[in-house]
Amino acid sequence: MTLEGGVRRYLIETWGCQMNQHDSEKMAGILGGLGYEVARDAREADLILLNTCSVREKAESKVFGRLGELRRLKDTRPDLIIGVVGCVAQQAGESIFRRAPYVDLVMGPRNLARIGALIEEARREGRSIGLARDDEPIVFPAGTTARASGPRAYVTVMEGCNKSCTYCIVPFTRGREVFRAPEAILGEVRDLPARGHCEIEFLGQNVNAYHHGEHDLASLLHMADRVPGVRRLRFTTSHPGHLKQRIMDAMRDVPTVCNHLHLPAQSGSDRVLMSMNRGYTRARYISRIEYLRKAVPGIAFSTDLIVGFPGETDDDFQATLSLLREVEYDQIYAFAYSRRPGTVAALLDESPGDEVRRERLQTLLSAQETIQRRHNEALLGRSFEVLVDGQGRLDNGLMKGRTRCNRIVHFPGPSRRGDFVDVRIIRANAHSLIGELFVARGAA
Ligand code: SAM
Ligand code: SF4
Repeated sequence: MTLEGGVRRYLIETWGCQMNQHDSEKMAGILGGLGYEVARDAREADLILLNTCSVREKAESKVFGRLGELRRLKDTRPDLIIGVVGCVAQQAGESIFRRAPYVDLVMGPRNLARIGALIEEARREGRSIGLARDDEPIVFPAGTTARASGPRAYVTVMEGCNKSCTYCIVPFTRGREVFRAPEAILGEVRDLPARGHCEIEFLGQNVNAYHHGEHDLASLLHMADRVPGVRRLRFTTSHPGHLKQRIMDAMRDVPTVCNHLHLPAQSGSDRVLMSMNRGYTRARYISRIEYLRKAVPGIAFSTDLIVGFPGETDDDFQATLSLLREVEYDQIYAFAYSRRPGTVAALLDESPGDEVRRERLQTLLSAQETIQRRHNEALLGRSFEVLVDGQGRLDNGLMKGRTRCNRIVHFPGPSRRGDFVDVRIIRANAHSLIGELFVARGAA
């Protein structure tokens, strides 16, 4: 039975990284193909999927908090199907049914192509579970993605991760690396400009480890650059250990590749990097940044940093602060270390403790704020090509768009989503840039 007029409606709530966001788009595509429509809210939905993240404990506990809220809905509507999918599902498996018996479906990220069958099984049998074993081939659902509107489109080039960073749960939840064939990737890319997507972002946990036959990420970028209608190319997330010369050269030489790189450092201390099993030193990391700064005009860098890794001393933390100041990142994502059961780091000592972690995080964020403010103020008066995303989220009537170097700029219209415009920066603070329209360039 459905809520309204025979149409089944779904709601997907997504936590975590771009890979999770894109997985939700893929599931939405599959559900659309099965005749489902999007629900406006949970009350209107016949199917609610929580697409979860288990990278940090906090993200994981939020899922169970949300499930507690949904329970009330399920009590009033037993036909409602509630699914936990994504990394928490793969990690916690059947135990989710014990903790939240009203959950109908549990599915890991590598089983995504089976979502339709698992929903049917849950309706029929009252419960279904789809968890991947490492020896199972992963199926990339093709041609069914329901992408968020806007000029940017994510395209998966690889799944999984073969690294073993000692703090990280991802290799357990997303499995070993699997690479998509270049023909499949380019087939998807060719389809996107006609659907209003002229900025393509290649996705993978270790996107720059991509290889398939004779192809690597550099050759993918060269090939995608030649696809008519593609105006900008990005890729994430890169591992510093796989940032080969060919990829850096592609960043310099391929016209559509944007001048921004997200390059997670995690720590500025060689001792901690070793204990994290990251496979590079601070000096090697900085050599890549220095090379790209010279090779790619105006390049912006962002990074991920973890503070309070087990055994991190004050000197180690100072080394991370000094890395931040040396590189002068344009943006950082900083996290207090979170212990993940099953990882190697979970067996290490508990020092420096959560209070020190919180303090270090604050110190790092305020150092970054100073850098960002200075960077942004230096942009006053300069103009940038901005690709318009649409209305900004703030209720101030401003449009929002991104520069090639991935800076978000707000500015007054007139312009439409998908337009390229020139915007001159007229106001800057640490976290935002306001501009004015300089020259309208017209639609993509
Ligand atoms: N594959 C990417 C890489 O190698 O950098 C990122 C994957 S992870 C989803 C995103 C970020 O979460 C990591 O770069 C790291 O900074 C952070 N992270 C992962 N595990 C963590 C943990 N146990 N505690 C705190 N932060 C963590
Ligand atoms: Fe996690 Fe390291 Fe793999 Fe990134 S490279 S997903 S941090 S194990």
